[in-house]
Amino acid sequence: MTDARRLAYLEALGVDVYVRRSLPAAPAATGSLPAIATSAASPVPAPPATSAPPAPEAALDWEALRAAVSACTRCALAGTRTQTVFGVGNPRARWMFIGEAPGAEEDKRGEPFVGRAGQLLTAMLKAVGLRREDVYIANVLKCRPPGNRDPRPEEAAHCRGYLERQIELVAPALVIAVGRIAAQNLLATDVPLARLRGRVHALGPRGWPLVVTYHPAYLLRSPGEKRKAWQDLLFAREVSGRIERGETVLP
Ligand code: SF4
Repeated sequence: MTDARRLAYLEALGVDVYVRRSLPAAPAATGSLPAIATSAASPVPAPPATSAPPAPEAALDWEALRAAVSACTRCALAGTRTQTVFGVGNPRARWMFIGEAPGAEEDKRGEPFVGRAGQLLTAMLKAVGLRREDVYIANVLKCRPPGNRDPRPEEAAHCRGYLERQIELVAPALVIAVGRIAAQNLLATDVPLARLRGRVHALGPRGWPLVVTYHPAYLLRSPGEKRKAWQDLLFAREVSGRIERGETVLP
């Protein structure tokens, strides 16, 4: 993608002129990155205790995993969903985006990050030279919580095995937690999103590199924060470049 096209997408995002003029060349230039700490991973607490049974899906392939999610009744959300929302994108993507849960539009269409928030995420991806089909997109929960309330701990615990298996199958170079709920859930922490940004975290026992950004639904409500989301994507691209070069991104 040319800088001109990227600038057009950034304009659509509402990212200001100062940031647009400091765009690095894709894919790995970092000289104009905003001043964000780059490699100091915060301690990742142990996952919370849960009453969820061991995940039997740990050995499933894509087809079997999708079928298991589709038929799942492990938590009460099975009774209120229109359909499960499994995930979408490149099954061997380098970047994997993880949000919190389906909303009304996702519940209706069976795909994560659609509607206005999804369109903004797609525009953000384009701004860093990626198409939606280049990445993999999933949620912590596969079923919509009624009224778009936050996921409950027991719901996330019951659904966790599905997401863990998706991560294993995709084997991404980088995980991007989208929004506070997803970030806090994945990292088992209550640290505010603002303090989780700009650092590389280790996800789970395998230590998948994970960075954090704002949820596009939040950005639609708070357009002044779009510039920070753009900084997060530049940071993700920088980290991704370091991973590609075989550099250590975790302490
Ligand atoms: S949210 Fe997850 S655990 Fe709950 S019913 Fe849906 S797929 Fe199953």
